[in-house]
Amino acid sequence: MDWLQGFLHGTLEELELARLKRQLTPLIPVGPVRALWEGREVVLFCSNNYLGLTHDPRVIARAQEALTKYGAGSGAARLVSGHTPLHQALEEALARFKGAARALLFPTGYTANIAVLSALVGRHDIVFCDRLCHASLLDGVLLSGAKLVRFQHNDPVSLRRLLAAHPGRRRFVVTEGVFSMDGDMAPLRELVALAEEFSLVVVVDDAHGTGTVGPGGRGVLAAQGISPEKVILTGTLSKALGSLGGFVAGPAVLIEYLTNRARPFIFTTALPPASVASAIAAIEILEAEPELVERLAENARLMREGLTALGISVPGETPILPLILGTPEKARRAQEYLLARGYYVPAIRPPTVPPGTARLRITVSAAHTKEEIAGFLAALREALAAA
Ligand code: PMP
Repeated sequence: MDWLQGFLHGTLEELELARLKRQLTPLIPVGPVRALWEGREVVLFCSNNYLGLTHDPRVIARAQEALTKYGAGSGAARLVSGHTPLHQALEEALARFKGAARALLFPTGYTANIAVLSALVGRHDIVFCDRLCHASLLDGVLLSGAKLVRFQHNDPVSLRRLLAAHPGRRRFVVTEGVFSMDGDMAPLRELVALAEEFSLVVVVDDAHGTGTVGPGGRGVLAAQGISPEKVILTGTLSKALGSLGGFVAGPAVLIEYLTNRARPFIFTTALPPASVASAIAAIEILEAEPELVERLAENARLMREGLTALGISVPGETPILPLILGTPEKARRAQEYLLARGYYVPAIRPPTVPPGTARLRITVSAAHTKEEIAGFLAALREALAAA
């Protein structure tokens, strides 16, 4: 055990020295965008609760109802006895919302990505992954044993060059729809055109696009006018939809295949009924009230304009606005300055983002008031002046 102790302490000390050591900070939520931090109320500009649905009374009521009716847990895997009418209803709602033939639930977005890639891709295949893809997508490729080739971020020209250099019979392209740390959208039309030209399968993780972009928040495919049949779509229930869980949407044959072959589906317990019911409620609210997504877009616009006025250009239209500061030290200092003024935006450091691009990942929610956004921008102006 001595060597293990040495290894653990050594690694943690190295992280501490590089200002990269991570630590858990308890927060007590007091609303969709507010929480108590060390007893003080702070406004969050970092959460993925883009529509504030975690605290919508209708969502909470549906979760409570399911909890009472079906119990706290689902008791087993879907294929054993954990499959309830609620799970089926949520899969139908997701398929309807995304315009896909069918959908399949997973415990999280992370496992949905791992499941799709490890079940579909084999070790003789080649996967072309955007350089900034989320860890879950990379982990899925690693698990598949396939050759991983990374193309320049959002750059179809780089992809085309790499396709020529890496021929193969079964090739996949993997990208995020809205990039989690940069807030920009993938050029899906170009990627899908390349896929058609070279017979590639495209996997799009729309974790951050679901509920935030496209008509009624239907996501990045709807935003770019791409038919869901052209790609395999994954996503999460844990961001704009305010719950927990992941999903894959696609043709019936794909869903049937994953039900039989995706180990992270087969060998894990079904989602708890309360999470499933709250996600159904969230989708129904989105379908009935698309103005919620418009409110989010308006808040994103306000924040973007405010940042531009501070000399920070964040192109695009999503509610993720990165403020790249460079070193972990700089990002931490900005975080602490803002926290002292009641705004909570933790610094994002490598390896979550590439070295030299430590940042504040600012996110807005439909639940933020205009005053909260204006207050945050004023504090940020001071933070930048003090840096
Ligand atoms: N994909 C992306 C792009 C993400 O940002 C995240 C969450 N950080 C996930 C997948 C994982 O989703 P979940 O939190 O539901 O596991």
